[in-house]
Amino acid sequence: MSLQLHNTLTRRIDPFVPLTPGRATLYTCGPTIYNYAHIGNFRTFLFEDLLRRWLEASGYDVFHIMNLTDVDDRTIAAAVKQGVPLRQHVDPFARAFEEDRDWLRIRPPHAQPRATEYIGPMIELISGLLEKGVAYKGEDGSVYFAIARFPAYGRLSQLDRRELRAGASERVSADEYAKEDARDFVLWKAVKPEDEAVGAAWDAPFGRGRPGWHIECSAMALELIRTKWGVDVLDIHAGAVDLIFPHHEDEIAQSCAYTGREEFARFWLHGEFLDVGGTKMSKRYGNILTVRDLREHGADAGAVRHLLFNTHYRQKLDWRDEALAAAREGSARLGAFRDRLELVAGEVDDAEAQAAVERFRDAFAGALDNDLNAPEALAALHVLVREGNRLLDEGGRLGPGIRAAWSLADEVLAVAPSARARTVAAEALAVAEEDGIPVCPPEVPPPDLADGEGWALRWAAVRAAEKRARNFGEADRIRDLLKEAGWEIRDRRDGAIEVVKRRR
Ligand SMILES: [Zn+2]
Repeated sequence: MSLQLHNTLTRRIDPFVPLTPGRATLYTCGPTIYNYAHIGNFRTFLFEDLLRRWLEASGYDVFHIMNLTDVDDRTIAAAVKQGVPLRQHVDPFARAFEEDRDWLRIRPPHAQPRATEYIGPMIELISGLLEKGVAYKGEDGSVYFAIARFPAYGRLSQLDRRELRAGASERVSADEYAKEDARDFVLWKAVKPEDEAVGAAWDAPFGRGRPGWHIECSAMALELIRTKWGVDVLDIHAGAVDLIFPHHEDEIAQSCAYTGREEFARFWLHGEFLDVGGTKMSKRYGNILTVRDLREHGADAGAVRHLLFNTHYRQKLDWRDEALAAAREGSARLGAFRDRLELVAGEVDDAEAQAAVERFRDAFAGALDNDLNAPEALAALHVLVREGNRLLDEGGRLGPGIRAAWSLADEVLAVAPSARARTVAAEALAVAEEDGIPVCPPEVPPPDLADGEGWALRWAAVRAAEKRARNFGEADRIRDLLKEAGWEIRDRRDGAIEVVKRRR
């Protein structure tokens, strides 16, 4: 079987056929950086990461674009509230997003456009729509898309055409609105004093203002895939279910009206929400759990991925702490097998091992090819680990076949514990001193993992002493030195220090 994906356009699971064989463009709507992204947002980004990883593992040359929405109603409102320029408000959240993304092992996109850096292509797109007569300037000075001029409007969200309301008196200028408000939507918003105040206004032939949210993704996607591969249709466009309407519906209307193509993306994939206690996680409901919360509470990225992949991306998932604990155990079992394999795997797989590998490969690929059935893929991995452990207990021989199977699973799911972590109480880190100056270990780490840990712990002790002496520059230098060697020091809230060996 080859890859099959659920396409929101057809409401069916269809064979994935890209525009060009062996190549896949993937556009995923990125975060709006007015605040920290929460774990519900990251559930979507993780399903997209799985999609990307599986496409790559299947041999596709993937071009993945994920934007950062750095100008829209919400970012401007937040900057106005803080009384700072837009850029100053959003930049820390952009950095925080990247940190959280990296911690969760989400592969960075090949292109990460920021909306404010693509105002030119947005103006060009809107100008094109005005020329074609599918957009018009309202008396409020803003530019709107005339949905009556685009017969396919409503196809993605399956809106009944009778529900559509169009015309100069029925317009919506907010970035977010409900299906009942399907009507002419804004492409370019005439400037307001608060936009100028935070530096969110640009000159355009049709008047000074700023882009609506929907036009941003269309312009960035078209510009980037045109530059990269000279195409104007995406292979896959993905996001969370709440983006189907109006965001993706509007993206299709703008893009297709502009390019004259029937499609903007061949496949539309949408991930379900993450609930907390039966309620959608949302800043509106105050039940937000951020990735930083998880990290500060000592969660491991492998366990979080394990938990989220244990439910199919098109099913709702209710976040429960017990589920995270179970996921941690599952992830730890995998990690233990990985460490065991490193120690004992030899040059050959015996017949039983070969058979286990074959069963695993069939089950794993079959699951992911079937609309990214991650729960089944995870189950196949656990079966492999169970069989591998049993074979080792019985004196069987495991070799390159099992190792390669493990690598494939690790490359696609990445659910094993991130590292061997050693936590020590700060007081236990005694540091030798000469005339009140700490005696430092050599700057170069020993190659062996066990010795390396001792080396890292000694440096951690020196760093703690430097911090106590308020020599923060030296403390930072030591942290960087360890980082260079693949060791991370974490100061925990309880005063303990954790020394972690990064695996990648
Ligand atoms: Zn988007």
